[in-house]
Amino acid sequence: MTKRILIVGAGFAATDAALSAARLRDLQKVSSRDLAITVIAPNPVLTVRPRLYEPNPEKMVVPLLDLFSAVDVNFVQGTVNAIDTEDQTVTFENLGNDKPKLTYDRLILAAGSSLFRPPIPGVDEHTFSVDNVSDAVSLDGHLNSLVKRPASAKRNTIVVAGGGFTGIEVATEMPTRLRKILGRDDDVQVVLVERSSTIAPDMGDEARPHIIKALNQLGIRAVTGAGITSVDADGVTLSNGERIDASTVIWSAGMRATDLTALINAERDNLGRLLVDANLAVPGVANVYATGDAAKAASDDLGNYTLMSCQHAKRMGAFAGNNAAASLMNVEPEPYHQRTYVTCLDLGEPGALFTRGWDRKVEATGADAKTIKQEVNTIWIYPPKADRNVALAYAKPSSVVDF
Ligand SMILES: Cc1cc2nc3c(=O)[nH]c(=O)nc-3n(C[C@H](O)[C@H](O)[C@H](O)COP(=O)(O)OP(=O)(O)OC[C@H]3O[C@@H](n4cnc5c(N)ncnc54)[C@H](O)[C@@H]3O)c2cc1C
Repeated sequence: MTKRILIVGAGFAATDAALSAARLRDLQKVSSRDLAITVIAPNPVLTVRPRLYEPNPEKMVVPLLDLFSAVDVNFVQGTVNAIDTEDQTVTFENLGNDKPKLTYDRLILAAGSSLFRPPIPGVDEHTFSVDNVSDAVSLDGHLNSLVKRPASAKRNTIVVAGGGFTGIEVATEMPTRLRKILGRDDDVQVVLVERSSTIAPDMGDEARPHIIKALNQLGIRAVTGAGITSVDADGVTLSNGERIDASTVIWSAGMRATDLTALINAERDNLGRLLVDANLAVPGVANVYATGDAAKAASDDLGNYTLMSCQHAKRMGAFAGNNAAASLMNVEPEPYHQRTYVTCLDLGEPGALFTRGWDRKVEATGADAKTIKQEVNTIWIYPPKADRNVALAYAKPSSVVDF
Protein backbone atom coordinates (compact mmCIF):
# COMPACT_ATOMS: atom_id res chain seq x y z
CA MET A 1 0.00 0.00 0.00
CA THR A 2 1.17 3.54 -0.74
CA LYS A 3 2.79 5.34 2.19
CA ARG A 4 2.11 9.07 2.35
CA ILE A 5 4.20 12.01 3.51
CA LEU A 6 2.11 15.15 3.76
CA ILE A 7 3.89 18.51 4.00
CA VAL A 8 1.84 21.51 5.10
CA GLY A 9 3.15 24.75 3.58
CA ALA A 10 5.06 25.77 0.46
CA GLY A 11 7.68 28.06 1.97
CA PHE A 12 11.41 27.63 2.44
CA ALA A 13 11.12 24.77 4.93
CA ALA A 14 8.35 22.92 3.08
CA THR A 15 10.04 23.13 -0.32
CA ASP A 16 13.34 21.80 0.99
CA ALA A 17 11.48 19.12 2.98
CA ALA A 18 9.72 17.94 -0.19
CA LEU A 19 12.95 17.90 -2.20
CA SER A 20 14.96 16.08 0.44
CA ALA A 21 12.24 13.47 1.01
CA ALA A 22 12.19 12.94 -2.76
CA ARG A 23 16.00 12.69 -2.77
CA LEU A 24 16.04 9.93 -0.16
CA ARG A 25 13.20 8.10 -1.90
CA ASP A 26 15.25 8.24 -5.10
CA LEU A 27 18.43 7.03 -3.36
CA GLN A 28 16.50 4.10 -1.89
CA LYS A 29 15.05 3.30 -5.32
CA VAL A 30 11.51 3.51 -3.94
CA SER A 31 8.84 4.53 -6.44
CA SER A 32 6.40 7.41 -5.99
CA ARG A 33 3.62 4.80 -6.08
CA ASP A 34 5.04 3.23 -2.92
CA LEU A 35 5.95 6.50 -1.21
CA ALA A 36 3.85 9.52 -2.19
CA ILE A 37 5.04 12.99 -1.16
CA THR A 38 2.40 15.71 -1.17
CA VAL A 39 2.66 19.41 -0.44
CA ILE A 40 -0.49 21.28 0.55
CA ALA A 41 -0.59 25.09 0.60
CA PRO A 42 -2.90 27.93 -0.46
CA ASN A 43 -0.78 28.58 -3.57
CA PRO A 44 1.90 26.65 -5.48
CA VAL A 45 4.47 29.39 -5.03
CA LEU A 46 7.31 30.13 -2.63
CA THR A 47 7.06 33.65 -1.25
CA VAL A 48 10.50 35.20 -0.86
CA ARG A 49 9.57 36.95 2.38
CA PRO A 50 13.03 38.42 3.02
CA ARG A 51 12.62 40.56 -0.12
CA LEU A 52 9.19 41.97 0.61
CA TYR A 53 10.61 45.32 1.74
CA GLU A 54 11.82 45.95 -1.81
CA PRO A 55 9.77 47.73 -4.50
CA ASN A 56 7.47 45.57 -6.68
CA PRO A 57 6.85 42.94 -3.99
CA GLU A 58 4.33 41.15 -6.22
CA LYS A 59 7.36 39.77 -8.08
CA MET A 60 8.79 38.07 -4.97
CA VAL A 61 7.17 34.69 -5.59
CA VAL A 62 8.67 31.62 -7.23
CA PRO A 63 6.37 29.13 -8.99
CA LEU A 64 6.86 25.59 -7.68
CA LEU A 65 4.73 23.25 -9.81
CA ASP A 66 7.42 22.46 -12.40
CA LEU A 67 9.99 21.85 -9.66
CA PHE A 68 7.64 19.54 -7.75
CA SER A 69 6.67 17.64 -10.86
CA ALA A 70 10.36 17.18 -11.81
CA VAL A 71 10.88 15.24 -8.56
CA ASP A 72 7.45 13.55 -8.42
CA VAL A 73 6.04 15.61 -5.57
CA ASN A 74 2.27 16.17 -5.67
CA PHE A 75 0.71 19.53 -4.92
CA VAL A 76 -2.76 20.07 -3.43
CA GLN A 77 -4.13 23.59 -3.28
CA GLY A 78 -5.74 24.29 0.07
CA THR A 79 -5.50 25.87 3.49
CA VAL A 80 -5.27 23.37 6.31
CA ASN A 81 -7.60 24.15 9.20
CA ALA A 82 -7.72 20.94 11.23
CA ILE A 83 -5.26 18.20 12.09
CA ASP A 84 -6.29 14.91 13.69
CA THR A 85 -3.15 13.19 14.94
CA GLU A 86 -5.13 10.08 16.05
CA ASP A 87 -6.73 9.42 12.65
CA GLN A 88 -3.68 10.88 10.86
CA THR A 89 -5.75 13.20 8.71
CA VAL A 90 -5.78 16.89 7.91
CA THR A 91 -8.83 18.84 6.81
CA PHE A 92 -8.47 21.78 4.50
CA GLU A 93 -10.43 24.45 2.70
CA ASN A 94 -10.37 24.99 -0.98
CA LEU A 95 -12.86 26.49 -3.36
CA GLY A 96 -15.71 24.25 -4.39
CA ASN A 97 -14.83 21.30 -2.17
CA ASP A 98 -16.63 20.65 1.09
CA LYS A 99 -14.16 20.01 3.94
CA PRO A 100 -11.83 17.69 2.02
CA LYS A 101 -9.43 15.51 3.99
CA LEU A 102 -6.02 14.03 3.33
CA THR A 103 -4.52 11.13 5.24
CA TYR A 104 -0.86 10.81 6.12
CA ASP A 105 1.66 8.30 7.40
CA ARG A 106 4.05 11.14 8.21
CA LEU A 107 3.03 14.77 8.62
CA ILE A 108 5.54 17.61 8.28
CA LEU A 109 4.17 20.86 9.63
CA ALA A 110 5.98 23.64 7.76
CA ALA A 111 3.32 26.36 7.72
CA GLY A 112 5.70 29.09 8.88
CA SER A 113 4.90 32.22 10.80
CA SER A 114 3.28 35.59 10.47
CA LEU A 115 3.62 39.05 11.91
CA PHE A 116 2.10 39.50 15.35
CA ARG A 117 0.15 42.72 15.70
CA PRO A 118 -0.37 43.43 19.41
CA PRO A 119 -3.74 44.69 20.69
CA ILE A 120 -2.66 48.35 20.64
CA PRO A 121 -5.40 50.77 19.54
CA GLY A 122 -5.24 51.43 15.79
CA VAL A 123 -2.52 48.89 14.94
CA ASP A 124 -4.84 46.61 12.95
CA GLU A 125 -6.53 49.44 11.05
CA HIS A 126 -3.69 51.86 10.43
CA THR A 127 -0.42 49.97 9.99
CA PHE A 128 1.19 48.47 6.93
CA SER A 129 3.59 45.52 6.91
CA VAL A 130 6.01 43.61 4.70
CA ASP A 131 5.05 40.24 6.14
CA ASN A 132 3.30 38.74 3.13
CA VAL A 133 2.83 39.64 -0.52
CA SER A 134 -0.60 41.16 -0.11
CA ASP A 135 0.49 43.44 2.76
CA ALA A 136 3.68 44.43 0.94
CA VAL A 137 1.71 45.22 -2.23
CA SER A 138 -0.65 47.44 -0.18
CA LEU A 139 2.35 49.29 1.24
CA ASP A 140 3.91 49.66 -2.20
CA GLY A 141 0.65 51.06 -3.63
CA HIS A 142 0.28 53.41 -0.68
CA LEU A 143 3.85 54.73 -1.01
CA ASN A 144 3.36 55.29 -4.73
CA SER A 145 0.10 57.16 -4.08
CA LEU A 146 1.70 59.62 -1.64
CA VAL A 147 2.94 61.75 -4.50
CA LYS A 148 -0.69 62.68 -5.27
CA ARG A 149 -1.16 64.17 -1.79
CA PRO A 150 -0.22 67.77 -0.98
CA ALA A 151 3.33 68.03 0.35
CA SER A 152 3.51 68.10 4.15
CA ALA A 153 5.73 66.78 6.94
CA LYS A 154 3.08 64.16 7.69
CA ARG A 155 3.01 62.91 4.10
CA ASN A 156 6.80 62.68 4.05
CA THR A 157 7.13 60.83 7.37
CA ILE A 158 7.30 57.06 7.78
CA VAL A 159 7.28 55.45 11.22
CA VAL A 160 8.68 51.92 11.45
CA ALA A 161 7.70 50.03 14.60
CA GLY A 162 10.35 47.58 15.76
CA GLY A 163 14.12 48.02 15.65
CA GLY A 164 14.97 44.33 15.10
CA PHE A 165 16.27 42.81 11.85
CA THR A 166 13.17 43.35 9.75
CA GLY A 167 12.47 46.83 11.12
CA ILE A 168 16.03 47.94 10.35
CA GLU A 169 15.92 46.54 6.81
CA VAL A 170 12.58 48.21 6.14
CA ALA A 171 13.60 51.54 7.68
CA THR A 172 16.93 51.78 5.87
CA GLU A 173 15.23 51.03 2.54
CA MET A 174 12.58 53.72 2.98
CA PRO A 175 14.47 57.02 2.51
CA THR A 176 15.68 56.04 -0.98
CA ARG A 177 12.37 54.47 -1.91
CA LEU A 178 10.29 57.43 -0.80
CA ARG A 179 12.60 59.99 -2.41
CA LYS A 180 12.33 58.10 -5.71
CA ILE A 181 8.56 58.49 -5.47
CA LEU A 182 8.32 62.04 -4.11
CA GLY A 183 11.34 63.60 -5.78
CA ARG A 184 15.00 63.68 -4.83
CA ASP A 185 14.82 66.98 -2.98
CA ASP A 186 11.87 66.19 -0.78
CA ASP A 187 12.52 66.28 2.93
CA VAL A 188 11.82 62.68 3.87
CA GLN A 189 11.75 61.64 7.53
CA VAL A 190 11.96 58.02 8.70
CA VAL A 191 11.55 57.30 12.41
CA LEU A 192 12.44 53.87 13.82
CA VAL A 193 10.75 53.14 17.15
CA GLU A 194 12.18 50.42 19.40
CA ARG A 195 10.91 49.59 22.88
CA SER A 196 14.27 48.25 24.11
CA SER A 197 16.96 50.64 25.22
CA THR A 198 18.97 50.06 22.02
CA ILE A 199 18.37 49.52 18.33
CA ALA A 200 19.02 45.95 17.17
CA PRO A 201 18.98 44.54 20.70
CA ASP A 202 20.06 41.08 19.45
CA MET A 203 22.98 42.25 17.33
CA GLY A 204 25.65 42.71 20.00
CA ASP A 205 28.07 45.52 20.73
CA GLU A 206 30.48 44.86 17.86
CA ALA A 207 27.84 44.94 15.11
CA ARG A 208 25.48 47.60 16.46
CA PRO A 209 27.72 50.64 15.80
CA HIS A 210 27.68 49.77 12.07
CA ILE A 211 23.88 49.84 12.12
CA ILE A 212 23.76 53.12 14.02
CA LYS A 213 26.25 54.65 11.56
CA ALA A 214 24.03 53.63 8.63
CA LEU A 215 20.92 55.05 10.33
CA ASN A 216 22.78 58.33 10.89
CA GLN A 217 24.01 58.41 7.30
CA LEU A 218 20.44 58.01 6.08
CA GLY A 219 19.09 60.62 8.50
CA ILE A 220 16.85 58.05 10.20
CA ARG A 221 15.82 59.05 13.71
CA ALA A 222 15.89 56.14 16.16
CA VAL A 223 13.62 56.44 19.19
CA THR A 224 14.58 53.81 21.78
CA GLY A 225 13.13 52.96 25.17
CA ALA A 226 9.62 53.90 24.04
CA GLY A 227 6.80 51.89 22.55
CA ILE A 228 3.89 52.90 20.34
CA THR A 229 0.76 53.20 22.47
CA SER A 230 -1.71 54.08 19.70
CA VAL A 231 -1.90 54.51 15.97
CA ASP A 232 -4.43 56.54 14.00
CA ALA A 233 -4.85 57.73 10.44
CA ASP A 234 -2.54 60.68 11.11
CA GLY A 235 0.34 59.05 12.97
CA VAL A 236 1.41 57.48 16.25
CA THR A 237 1.61 58.30 19.94
CA LEU A 238 4.51 56.93 21.97
CA SER A 239 4.74 55.79 25.58
CA ASN A 240 7.04 58.75 26.30
CA GLY A 241 4.20 61.08 25.29
CA GLU A 242 5.68 62.06 21.93
CA ARG A 243 3.29 62.45 19.00
CA ILE A 244 4.61 61.76 15.48
CA ASP A 245 2.45 62.79 12.55
CA ALA A 246 2.95 60.30 9.74
CA SER A 247 0.97 59.12 6.74
CA THR A 248 2.74 55.77 6.83
CA VAL A 249 3.25 53.44 9.79
CA ILE A 250 4.89 50.07 9.14
CA TRP A 251 4.60 47.37 11.82
CA SER A 252 7.69 45.15 12.00
CA ALA A 253 7.74 44.05 15.62
CA GLY A 254 7.20 40.42 16.51
CA MET A 255 6.47 37.15 14.77
CA ARG A 256 4.33 34.18 15.79
CA ALA A 257 4.36 30.62 14.50
CA THR A 258 1.38 29.42 12.49
CA ASP A 259 -1.77 28.80 14.54
CA LEU A 260 -1.67 25.21 13.27
CA THR A 261 0.98 24.45 15.91
CA ALA A 262 -1.76 24.82 18.53
CA LEU A 263 -3.59 21.87 16.95
CA ILE A 264 -0.77 19.53 17.92
CA ASN A 265 -0.89 18.40 21.54
CA ALA A 266 2.73 19.14 22.40
CA GLU A 267 4.95 21.71 24.06
CA ARG A 268 5.38 25.10 22.34
CA ASP A 269 7.59 28.09 23.09
CA ASN A 270 6.52 31.70 23.66
CA LEU A 271 6.41 32.27 19.87
CA GLY A 272 4.07 29.31 19.39
CA ARG A 273 6.78 27.08 17.90
CA LEU A 274 6.62 23.33 18.54
CA LEU A 275 9.62 22.01 20.43
CA VAL A 276 11.09 19.24 18.31
CA ASP A 277 13.73 16.58 18.92
CA ALA A 278 17.02 16.13 17.05
CA ASN A 279 15.23 14.41 14.16
CA LEU A 280 12.72 17.30 14.06
CA ALA A 281 9.92 15.00 15.19
CA VAL A 282 7.40 16.28 17.73
CA PRO A 283 7.95 14.29 20.96
CA GLY A 284 4.92 12.35 22.13
CA VAL A 285 2.92 12.77 18.93
CA ALA A 286 3.29 9.83 16.59
CA ASN A 287 4.44 10.49 13.05
CA VAL A 288 4.41 14.29 13.22
CA TYR A 289 7.42 16.44 12.34
CA ALA A 290 7.61 20.23 12.56
CA THR A 291 10.11 22.45 10.84
CA GLY A 292 11.06 25.98 9.81
CA ASP A 293 9.42 28.87 11.66
CA ALA A 294 6.82 26.44 13.05
CA ALA A 295 9.44 24.63 15.15
CA LYS A 296 12.21 25.25 17.65
CA ALA A 297 15.18 22.89 17.64
CA ALA A 298 18.62 22.82 19.17
CA SER A 299 20.97 23.83 16.37
CA ASP A 300 24.15 22.57 18.07
CA ASP A 301 25.39 21.07 21.33
CA LEU A 302 26.36 24.46 22.73
CA GLY A 303 22.93 25.62 23.81
CA ASN A 304 21.95 27.51 20.63
CA TYR A 305 18.46 27.17 19.19
CA THR A 306 17.00 27.85 15.79
CA LEU A 307 15.61 31.29 15.00
CA MET A 308 12.79 32.26 12.69
CA SER A 309 15.07 32.70 9.70
CA CYS A 310 15.49 31.37 6.18
CA GLN A 311 18.84 29.85 6.93
CA HIS A 312 17.31 27.75 9.71
CA ALA A 313 14.05 27.09 7.87
CA LYS A 314 15.73 25.75 4.75
CA ARG A 315 18.11 23.41 6.54
CA MET A 316 15.52 22.27 9.08
CA GLY A 317 13.18 21.60 6.15
CA ALA A 318 15.77 19.41 4.44
CA PHE A 319 16.38 17.39 7.62
CA ALA A 320 12.66 17.03 8.40
CA GLY A 321 11.90 15.78 4.88
CA ASN A 322 14.82 13.39 4.96
CA ASN A 323 13.93 12.01 8.39
CA ALA A 324 10.21 11.63 7.71
CA ALA A 325 11.08 9.67 4.55
CA ALA A 326 13.80 7.69 6.36
CA SER A 327 11.33 6.54 8.99
CA LEU A 328 9.11 5.03 6.27
CA MET A 329 11.97 3.23 4.51
CA ASN A 330 13.87 1.76 7.48
CA VAL A 331 16.76 4.18 6.98
CA GLU A 332 18.62 5.75 9.93
CA PRO A 333 17.57 9.39 10.46
CA GLU A 334 20.15 12.19 10.27
CA PRO A 335 20.01 14.35 13.39
CA TYR A 336 19.62 18.03 12.52
CA HIS A 337 22.65 20.23 13.21
CA GLN A 338 23.60 23.70 12.03
CA ARG A 339 26.79 24.82 13.64
CA THR A 340 27.39 27.94 11.59
CA TYR A 341 25.13 30.91 11.96
CA VAL A 342 25.50 34.11 9.97
CA THR A 343 23.52 37.32 9.71
CA CYS A 344 23.37 39.54 6.67
CA LEU A 345 21.49 42.73 7.31
CA ASP A 346 20.59 45.12 4.50
CA LEU A 347 21.22 48.74 5.46
CA GLY A 348 19.91 50.45 2.33
CA GLU A 349 22.20 52.86 0.48
CA PRO A 350 25.11 52.59 2.97
CA GLY A 351 25.40 48.87 2.16
CA ALA A 352 24.93 45.92 4.52
CA LEU A 353 26.42 44.15 7.51
CA PHE A 354 27.60 40.53 7.50
CA THR A 355 28.35 38.79 10.79
CA ARG A 356 29.35 35.24 11.63
CA GLY A 357 28.62 33.24 14.77
CA TRP A 358 26.18 33.66 17.61
CA ASP A 359 28.45 36.36 19.02
CA ARG A 360 28.07 38.18 15.66
CA LYS A 361 31.67 38.85 14.70
CA VAL A 362 31.62 41.46 11.93
CA GLU A 363 33.08 39.98 8.72
CA ALA A 364 32.00 42.50 6.11
CA THR A 365 30.38 45.91 5.97
CA GLY A 366 29.31 48.48 3.37
CA ALA A 367 29.48 47.53 -0.31
CA ASP A 368 31.25 44.20 0.37
CA ALA A 369 28.45 43.04 2.67
CA LYS A 370 25.87 44.38 0.19
CA THR A 371 27.27 42.08 -2.49
CA ILE A 372 26.83 39.13 -0.11
CA LYS A 373 23.29 40.27 0.75
CA GLN A 374 22.34 40.49 -2.90
CA GLU A 375 23.71 37.01 -3.49
CA VAL A 376 21.82 35.65 -0.47
CA ASN A 377 18.59 37.31 -1.55
CA THR A 378 18.73 36.47 -5.25
CA ILE A 379 20.49 33.09 -5.31
CA TRP A 380 20.97 31.28 -2.02
CA ILE A 381 17.41 31.39 -0.75
CA TYR A 382 15.84 30.56 -4.12
CA PRO A 383 14.88 26.95 -4.87
CA PRO A 384 16.83 25.03 -7.51
CA LYS A 385 15.74 24.88 -11.13
CA ALA A 386 13.09 22.38 -12.17
CA ASP A 387 15.57 19.70 -13.20
CA ARG A 388 15.33 16.35 -11.42
CA ASN A 389 19.06 15.70 -10.96
CA VAL A 390 19.83 19.28 -9.95
CA ALA A 391 16.94 19.44 -7.50
CA LEU A 392 17.68 16.09 -5.85
CA ALA A 393 21.39 16.87 -5.47
CA TYR A 394 20.54 20.29 -4.01
CA ALA A 395 18.47 18.77 -1.22
CA LYS A 396 21.17 16.74 0.56
CA PRO A 397 20.41 17.86 4.13
CA SER A 398 24.00 18.38 5.28
CA SER A 399 24.75 20.67 2.31
CA VAL A 400 21.70 22.94 2.57
CA VAL A 401 22.76 26.50 3.53
CA ASP A 402 26.10 25.36 4.85
CA PHE A 403 28.28 28.45 5.17
C1 LIG B 1 10.31 41.26 5.66
C2 LIG B 1 11.01 40.02 6.10
C3 LIG B 1 12.39 39.99 6.03
C4 LIG B 1 13.07 38.85 6.43
N1 LIG B 1 14.42 38.84 6.30
C5 LIG B 1 15.09 37.73 6.58
C6 LIG B 1 16.50 37.67 6.37
O1 LIG B 1 17.13 38.64 5.95
N2 LIG B 1 17.12 36.51 6.65
C7 LIG B 1 16.46 35.41 7.11
O2 LIG B 1 17.09 34.37 7.32
N3 LIG B 1 15.13 35.44 7.33
C8 LIG B 1 14.43 36.56 7.08
N4 LIG B 1 13.09 36.59 7.27
C9 LIG B 1 12.43 35.44 7.91
C10 LIG B 1 12.12 34.34 6.89
O3 LIG B 1 11.40 34.87 5.82
C11 LIG B 1 11.33 33.24 7.59
O4 LIG B 1 12.09 32.75 8.66
C12 LIG B 1 11.06 32.11 6.59
O5 LIG B 1 10.16 32.57 5.60
C13 LIG B 1 10.48 30.90 7.28
O6 LIG B 1 10.28 29.90 6.35
P1 LIG B 1 9.13 28.82 6.54
O7 LIG B 1 9.15 27.95 5.35
O8 LIG B 1 9.24 28.20 7.88
O9 LIG B 1 7.78 29.65 6.57
P2 LIG B 1 7.12 30.63 5.51
O10 LIG B 1 8.11 31.20 4.60
O11 LIG B 1 6.29 31.54 6.34
O12 LIG B 1 6.18 29.69 4.65
C14 LIG B 1 5.01 29.13 5.22
C15 LIG B 1 4.21 28.40 4.14
O13 LIG B 1 3.09 27.80 4.76
C16 LIG B 1 1.90 28.12 4.05
N5 LIG B 1 0.79 28.06 4.99
C17 LIG B 1 0.54 28.90 6.02
N6 LIG B 1 -0.60 28.52 6.65
C18 LIG B 1 -1.05 27.41 6.01
C19 LIG B 1 -2.18 26.55 6.18
N7 LIG B 1 -3.09 26.75 7.16
N8 LIG B 1 -2.34 25.52 5.32
C20 LIG B 1 -1.43 25.30 4.33
N9 LIG B 1 -0.35 26.07 4.13
C21 LIG B 1 -0.16 27.12 4.96
C22 LIG B 1 2.20 29.52 3.51
O14 LIG B 1 1.33 29.82 2.44
C23 LIG B 1 3.65 29.33 3.07
O15 LIG B 1 3.68 28.66 1.84
C24 LIG B 1 12.36 37.72 6.91
C25 LIG B 1 10.97 37.75 6.98
C26 LIG B 1 10.29 38.89 6.59
C27 LIG B 1 8.79 38.91 6.67
